[in-house]
Amino acid sequence: MQEVRTVFITGASSGIGASCAKLFAQEGKYRLLLCARRIEKLILLQDELLTINPSLQIHVFQLDVKNSDEVKESIASLPEEWKKIDVLINNAGLSQGLDPIQNGDLGDWDRMIDTNIKGLLYVSKAVIPFIQKSNNGHIINIGSIAGKEVYANGNVYCATKHAVDALNKAMRIDLLKDGIKVTAINPGMVETEFSEVRFHGDKERAKAVYDGLSALTPLDIAEIISFVLSRPAHVNINDLLVMPTAQA
Ligand code: NDP
Repeated sequence: MQEVRTVFITGASSGIGASCAKLFAQEGKYRLLLCARRIEKLILLQDELLTINPSLQIHVFQLDVKNSDEVKESIASLPEEWKKIDVLINNAGLSQGLDPIQNGDLGDWDRMIDTNIKGLLYVSKAVIPFIQKSNNGHIINIGSIAGKEVYANGNVYCATKHAVDALNKAMRIDLLKDGIKVTAINPGMVETEFSEVRFHGDKERAKAVYDGLSALTPLDIAEIISFVLSRPAHVNINDLLVMPTAQA
């Protein structure tokens, strides 16, 4: 019988995280542990996932990855049956503001650094002891093309995703002796709430970003993650850059 793996996804309330949850529910090979700040969206998602797969085992909880105490306490107090984790998808992240550095907003900078770098570190530290109990452990870090290149006005967001790139490499080395795989998935433009968050809820500006370009869908990324997770034990995909065909 096929092993059911427990997958923990941060930032599962929308976009890539929610799409992974839906695909994994359909595939029927996973138990799902989902978190984000918007618990009401997670509860709606949970209902949808149970419609897709009525026998799905799922636990959702509210978590702000920026808050180190909250991360430590929430993860330590998970129900016992969720304290062995096979896969962590460090997906929670955001870009805010798209301005030259001289016009940057300190609040935006702090939120990006605290979420994309510190949040990823806090969650990883809290979850790794549970992954060490697995004989099939895997951490997927959602980076970005912004972790490989720097574009105009991308300054601080690009810096945070370059940090994710470095942390992905470092984690792979540090966790090698535990047999835990580590993979970075680096998307180009994906059509999600990401753009709206970037422009502080300005829907028109957000939508204009995708005009004339066939962006990736969150499902495109979810399918790639599913492929990465399905490789045999001796194969690790370290790093993938996934772009829309039409993006320069
Ligand atoms: P979304 O805005 O749709 O999703 C982001 C998710 O992160 C949401 O579920 C949000 O949930 C969660 N999140 C944000 N801040 C926190 C926090 N402090 N604590 C917990 N959860 C948080 O965008 P995407 O799906 O596109 O983004 C997912 C990842 O993909 C991000 O890391 C992003 O940087 C990366 N990426 C996206 C690209 C794109 O073009 N869309 C391109 C390259 C990379 P909530 O608000 O409920 O907390």
